[in-house]
Amino acid sequence: MKKITIAIDGFSSCGKSTMAKDLAREIGYIYIDSGAMYRAVTLYCIQNDIIKGGDIDVTKLKKEIPNIHITFQLNPSTGRPDTYLNGVNVENEIRTMEVSSKVSLISAIDFVRSAMVAEQQKMGKEKGIVMDGRDIGTTVFPDAELKIFVTASPEIRAKRRYDELEQKGTPANFDEILENVKQRDFIDQNREVSPLKRAEDALLLDNSQLTIDEQKKWLLEQYNRVIQSK
Ligand code: C5P
Repeated sequence: MKKITIAIDGFSSCGKSTMAKDLAREIGYIYIDSGAMYRAVTLYCIQNDIIKGGDIDVTKLKKEIPNIHITFQLNPSTGRPDTYLNGVNVENEIRTMEVSSKVSLISAIDFVRSAMVAEQQKMGKEKGIVMDGRDIGTTVFPDAELKIFVTASPEIRAKRRYDELEQKGTPANFDEILENVKQRDFIDQNREVSPLKRAEDALLLDNSQLTIDEQKKWLLEQYNRVIQSK
């Protein structure tokens, strides 16, 4: 069967990854969480004193960027890919509040974005890929056959992130998460390079009132519709 490219963009914590991963597994496509890549670069910056507080040593980061290698490997116990930074599994570390509070600053840097976009385009060269992020339908794969733009209210998104962290046993504070969600939305939408915006040809999905199963079903219907028209 013909393979297509599926781009899923949207605001933070709106359930993009869950629906993207589930669809990829169901249809046998590769799944790439592009946000995990920006998070891994941010973790590298924290570990190597490139970011301190809100100050970024941009010169050092530019020099170090070729040394930052991000890969994904399937975790057999979760059935989902884990993120590796220079060969080390960092799947949990990249989801902490410390990384969340800094990632939008790092991802707004032009040379960070061009390095990540080049990697992402390489991963999607053969199609048969579901990638989620902020600029997948606009910049990474502007020719994707199926583009979705997902949204939900900030409160609902913060609650989902809170539940996710709680489930992992990571202490979480709802107000802090809500503030972080709003702050990231603002930075992501207002940055100069590839700001978060809906591609003109993306389908809009507000999933505030949908269950995970309803979203999954909707997404699979969209995939079937596109594949049948090919
Ligand atoms: O998707 P997630 O919330 O994990 O992404 C973390 C951050 O990475 C986002 O808030 C955004 O700043 C950045 N990002 C991006 N472009 C992407 C994916 C994520 O700028 N394609």
